[in-house]
Amino acid sequence: MGKHIIPLFLPKFLLMEFEKEIAKRRTFGIISHPDAGKTTLTEKLLLFGGAIQEAGAVKSNKIKKSATSDFMEIERQRGISVATSVLAFIYKDKKINILDTPGHKDFAEDTFRTLTAVDSVIVVIDVAKGVEEQTEKLVEVCRMRNIPMIVFINKLDREGKDAFDLLDEVEQKLGLTVTPLSFPIGMGYDFKGIYNIYEKNINLFSGNSKKNIEETIAFDNLDNPELEKIIGADAAEELRDNLELVEGVYPDFDKDAYLKGELQPVFFGSALNNFGVRELLDCFVNIAPSPRPKKAEERLVKADEKDFSGFVFKIHANMDPKHRDRLAFVKIVSGTFERNTPYLHVRHGKKLKFSSPNAFFAEKKEIVDISYPGDIVGLHDTGNFKIGDTLTSGEELHYKGIPSFSPEHFRYINNADPMKAKQLYKGIDQLMDEGVAQLFTLEMNGRKVIGTVGALQYEVIQYRLEHEYGAKCTYENFPVHKACWVEAEDENNEEFKEFKRVKQKFLATDKKGQLVFLADSPFSLQMTQQKYPSVKLHYTSEFE
Ligand code: GDP
Repeated sequence: MGKHIIPLFLPKFLLMEFEKEIAKRRTFGIISHPDAGKTTLTEKLLLFGGAIQEAGAVKSNKIKKSATSDFMEIERQRGISVATSVLAFIYKDKKINILDTPGHKDFAEDTFRTLTAVDSVIVVIDVAKGVEEQTEKLVEVCRMRNIPMIVFINKLDREGKDAFDLLDEVEQKLGLTVTPLSFPIGMGYDFKGIYNIYEKNINLFSGNSKKNIEETIAFDNLDNPELEKIIGADAAEELRDNLELVEGVYPDFDKDAYLKGELQPVFFGSALNNFGVRELLDCFVNIAPSPRPKKAEERLVKADEKDFSGFVFKIHANMDPKHRDRLAFVKIVSGTFERNTPYLHVRHGKKLKFSSPNAFFAEKKEIVDISYPGDIVGLHDTGNFKIGDTLTSGEELHYKGIPSFSPEHFRYINNADPMKAKQLYKGIDQLMDEGVAQLFTLEMNGRKVIGTVGALQYEVIQYRLEHEYGAKCTYENFPVHKACWVEAEDENNEEFKEFKRVKQKFLATDKKGQLVFLADSPFSLQMTQQKYPSVKLHYTSEFE
């Protein structure tokens, strides 16, 4: 007696409720090169979900080039990116969570981390510009993780590349296997509409009612002579030819292949004109996956497991420097997250309770009692969390898949105000926990080096150290080509000892204490690897 009896299984009706909630969730990210139309598409999706009432309500999270040294702009930006971190809405009884991914390349690492929390993505491509650099990088990350992707080719109201050429480009540059689920009729000035292969109907584009949801004409049989009457003889013939080619060249749509990341459906449209967006969304809610299982170091964790687990993929500092608290964004992987319930912070080995977890809805956040797998909760944090931390009901799980990537820029950071050393180190520490940049400590002399993806971050760090922590810093150039995480076959072998001795000047530890080799040129990297073959050098901090 006196023992608590913990039910091993939830009562059946609760279990069904729980499974239903999971099946409803669609958590995804929209990725694109800046200017392809991500913000516009997000806004139109929210309009369909009834989450916003008017166009222009979603603020672009873009950092303009001219804003590089405009700190007010950076602050304004941080405000927007809190507001747009997670945008949720209900559509056709599905709970849709859009996770914001900054397009600016200096914030690419933020986007990579957010991609660890999505279950699928939509890739937006500009019909005139085709596949651009940022798209290539982001799609590569998704491809490596087999994340299901749908491609949306945008701005069909403008002159652009030929649809088949674009499909080729997407296959070649992005390494995807595509199958168009819609096909444009004309383009730019001649843009007449879109044939929806998925639903077998035609949507006509009307220049006058561009802002309205378009008229749909169903067409089961393309040989129907009505087609000529509606779009004209030339366009009808071209469409028939094109669709014949589509059928001959591209594989049939196969949902399983899409879910495995092996096949990517493509839609065409114009986000600005709200054209082709409903088709995209309708197909998306049908085929996109509900929360997928996630690998922890210990085991694979499934969404429908009863016990809660989740991980921190983003940390946002409070906009008010007087309140040092931050918002940690947790993706729920399994079980339910409940308010005022103690959960294990695995890295600290202690239990924490949260009295006011935030859920996100449209552009608002509100306190929530219970959240399900796929959802994101925002937890107020006074410095307990780091990106990548795992929270569970009690099991010692460590979620994988949030590696650090080699930064592109490296600078020494110096203290410019000796009276404020403590503030400086605290500030650096917290900004690194947020994932703003990476800190390396040189083995030889303990000097601190900050590595970033873009030069913009140095200004952000300097500004925030001063305004939030009252500390001043200066930078000094440190020419490094790449940071490589070191893996020794055997830490006691002579080769590794020699490597450490000879390369001492180039060795540092990262924030987790992992050994890093800072190669000063591609040549020295190559030579080092040749000379010490048993020492493996990795471009990311996580390796099998
Ligand atoms: P993001 O950087 O990817 O978020 O791109 P935005 O959504 O901010 O769009 C960049 C620019 O392209 C803006 O001026 C939009 O108005 C414009 N745009 C977006 N979609 C379309 C479209 O379908 N047609 C045209 N002509 N312009 C578009």
